[in-house]
Formats: sequence, structure tokens, C-alpha cells
Amino acid sequence: MSEIGTALARELGPDRVAEDAATLTAHQVDYWILAHLRARQGRLDGPPACVVRPQSTAEVAAAVRIAQRHGVAIVPYGGGSGVLGGAVPPAGSLVIDTRAMHKLLELNDAALWVRVQAGMMGGVYEATLAEQGYTGGHFPQSIDLATIGGLVATRSAGQLSTRYGNIEDLCLGLEAVLASGDVVRVKAVPRSSTGPSLRELFLGSEGALGIVTEATLRIFPKAEHRAMETYAFPTMAAGLEAIRKIVRVGWRPAVVRLYDAVESARNFTDWAPADQCLLLVLSEGPRTLVDAEMAACAAACAGAVALGAKPVEHWLGHRNVVPSWDTFLDREMLVDTIEIAAGWDRIGGLYDAVVASLQGVPGLLVGSAHSSHSYPQGTNLYITFAMKPPDFADAEKHYLDAWGRVMRASLDAGGTIAHHHGIGRLRAEWLREELGTAYPLLLALKRALDPAGLMNPGTLVARG
Ligand SMILES: Cc1cc2nc3c(=O)[nH]c(=O)nc-3n(C[C@H](O)[C@H](O)[C@H](O)COP(=O)(O)OP(=O)(O)OC[C@H]3O[C@@H](n4cnc5c(N)ncnc54)[C@H](O)[C@@H]3O)c2cc1C
Repeated sequence: MSEIGTALARELGPDRVAEDAATLTAHQVDYWILAHLRARQGRLDGPPACVVRPQSTAEVAAAVRIAQRHGVAIVPYGGGSGVLGGAVPPAGSLVIDTRAMHKLLELNDAALWVRVQAGMMGGVYEATLAEQGYTGGHFPQSIDLATIGGLVATRSAGQLSTRYGNIEDLCLGLEAVLASGDVVRVKAVPRSSTGPSLRELFLGSEGALGIVTEATLRIFPKAEHRAMETYAFPTMAAGLEAIRKIVRVGWRPAVVRLYDAVESARNFTDWAPADQCLLLVLSEGPRTLVDAEMAACAAACAGAVALGAKPVEHWLGHRNVVPSWDTFLDREMLVDTIEIAAGWDRIGGLYDAVVASLQGVPGLLVGSAHSSHSYPQGTNLYITFAMKPPDFADAEKHYLDAWGRVMRASLDAGGTIAHHHGIGRLRAEWLREELGTAYPLLLALKRALDPAGLMNPGTLVARG
């Protein structure tokens, strides 16, 4: 057993610590396709030294202190569904797998919030609430693959976010273990005016500033009523304009998803007229609100062809089905998604620029997008690209080329390089330009909270 493994086993008990090859290999990658490609090509970093599975905050704190004493890097690992390599551990590091901390600790019906341990899986969380007549309102596509702590630590967004909000709107308070091993709690209140939000420090911190051990999240009574409709638009620009009109005046349909013509044809074959962009609308809540919201959406979509509820029902039934990366890598193909966002004044141009720019990537098979999270000020673009690089040995270069083109287009349009997947390792190099004059502030925070640089080095903040 490694030195750190031995120390952890002594303090926490041998049942909490694993160093067998299968456990180390399982924690060597997350859902980043490049990590899987590198593993196939024998270019992945060596394995972590050890995986620890704490069952309490106190055990997380003890593990962190031991890692600090041994000078070993610490990588929090939730469900491993991150798509940017954020949980891919450096060789010889300590992986803290949070999934043994999976309890719902308190449900406060009067205040409509719950306290939950960070390692509970998203799907289990939602099912537990549903049994009691509530919803958490957070439905990332990875709901069955991700933990609550991972969803907080990556600033995630759910499929119904336009009504319920993103994780930063849902998370009212939290508990985290700092690099020193100290435990901090930010209490849950509806709102406060007590200086900068310290809760926000950990939303999107990706294990680089601390380990989230508990979250207090808003919940909602289960919706009384739900209604759906689909509209076909001749162009993305026309569909985006309809969404802008809907959200601008205060409507918040839970789902407003606009697919470009390529994705409409691919995902809604039975319904999509040729070369049309489908807009899916789903409203839920009190019946009178839903009726009014659906009428307002219909008015904003005047001129588009209404196709009925079936495409939305189809999407609801298939929305979380994802093929494994192996399906593509076996065929020497790479597929990935990139989520960016910009203001309404820029988003149409950004869509055109991204799709055009991806065409220059050697071996590109498809570059398409949809918008799925909208705000009065703007919306996101969720880009999917697939490529069969001319020379598979060089696949990484072409993959990074595709990413670079989308990052560049987004920065040039004044948009953001990341809407909801976070930064991970892949985007860390781009964060300096994204944050501009605020980047030194992030570096200062990192130095203050993690002076030895052992918290998930290379994720969020690039090395060197
Ligand atoms: C098929 C698929 C669909 C997806 N759909 C969505 C989507 O709809 N919306 C969305 O926002 N994202 C989506 N994602 C991305 C991913 O699921 C989310 O980013 C999710 O939040 C990761 O949670 P996890 O528990 O799997 O975290 P991990 O992958 O284990 O870790 C992610 C990062 O957070 C850190 N981390 C994990 N737990 C903690 C903790 N307790 N404290 C501090 N840091 C921690 C890790 O070190 C790492 O840097 C999707 C991913 C996949 C594979």
C-alpha cells in the first residue's frame, strides 16, 4: 500500500481506502472524451495513488489533512460525469470519492429547502423528493451520472432551468472542507446583504478551492399542470427571435429548446419538415399560469407552423439517452459538445460564426447546435461536433482545433466560453482571456485558499 493509503487506512479504517487496480483505473478518467482517447493511445497520466471513500464531513477533513501532510494532490470525485477532465487525477494523487456521503439530511416543508450530502446522485435526489410531492427542479441530462456536489462544483444547468433556475439559483447554502482541513458552513437564508457571497466561491470551484460536503437546495411543490407545443421556424434567427420575445417580458416556460435544421432532422425525424428549426415549448406550474404562458408563447411564435406536443413528448422520453464514447472511438471518430452563451444582440451571429468555423476542421462530419437555456438578456448555444480525423494518431490535435475555433468565436462575440459544463482541464488555458482583468483575482483566491497548490491542480486554474 502507498504511504498515503497506509496513513488513511490507519486514521479512517481500511474499509474506506482502496488501491486495487480496478478502482484506480475506474477513477483515472471522467467523461472527457480526450481522456478516453489518451487512455486508448497509452498517453494518459499514471493512476492516482489511492482512492478514499469518506462517509462524513469529518472524514473528508481528516483525509485532506493527511494529504497535506504528505504533500499529495487531492482530487474530489463525484459521479465522474464531468466532460472537461476536471476529475481526471494527476499521477500519484489522492482521489476523494464522495459517493458514500449520500443522505438527504433534512426536508424543510415550510421553508421549501432540503439539506443533502454532496455524494447523493442527482436521480436518487429527484426520486426521493418526488416521493414526497416535491421536485428539485434540477434536471441535467447527466442526472443519473452526477452527484449533487459535482453539480454544485461545476455550476451546472438543468433542462428545466428557464423556470427553476440553474444550480446557483437553487443552492441557498453549503458546507465545504478547505485545503487546510477546516470546515466552513454558509447558512441557508432566502437572501442576505452580508458582503460578497461566500457561497458563490464554491459554486463552480471544481475541487480547486475546497470540497463541497453538503448543500442546501431550494425545492418546489410538484407542478399542478403541464402543457407542450412545438413550432417549426425556417431559420435559427427566426426561432431565436421568438424565444427572445417570450423571455423578455417575463414568461419562463420550463423548456424552450430551439434546434437548428441539422439537429431537428436528426432528433425529430418523424415530425420535422425539411430544413426547419424546431422549437420545443413546455410550460408547467399552476394551471392558470400554464394556460397564459402557452398563449403568450403561441403569440410570440405567430407565423411558425405548430406541430403539436408529440415532438416534446418524444424528447422527454429520450432526453437522457447518450451513447458511450467507445461507440465513436471504436470507429476512429470523435464527438463532443461545447456550451457557450451570449447576449441576444450577438447570439445569431455567434451561431453562424461557430458553424462556419467548424467547417474548417479536417475530417468534420457535422457541426450543429441548439439553444436550451434562455434568459431575458441572452441564451446559450449547445454545439455538437463529430469528426473522423484523417489520421487518427493525430486526433487530439484536430479535436483541440475544433475546440479552439469555438472558444475563439465565443470570445470574439463577447460571449462566454462556458455556459454550464465548467472549465475542467480542457478550458483552463482559455480562462485567462475569458476573465480578463478579473483573472488575477481568481489566482489570488486560489493562492489564499490553497497555498500549497494541492487542490485539484490543473483544473479551473491552469498550471504554471
Ligand atoms: C451525458 C452527460 C450529460 C450531461 N448533461 C449536463 C447537463 O445537462 N447540465 C450540466 O450542467 N452538465 C451536464 N453534464 C456535465 C456533468 O455531468 C456535470 O458537470 C456534473 O455536474 C458533474 O457531476 P459529477 O458528480 O459527475 O462530478 P465529477 O465529474 O466527478 O467532477 C466534476 C468536477 O467537480 C469536482 N467535484 C466533484 N465533486 C465535488 C465536490 N463534492 N466538491 C468539490 N468539487 C467536486 C471534480 O473534482 C471535478 O473537477 C453532462 C455530462 C454527461 C456525461
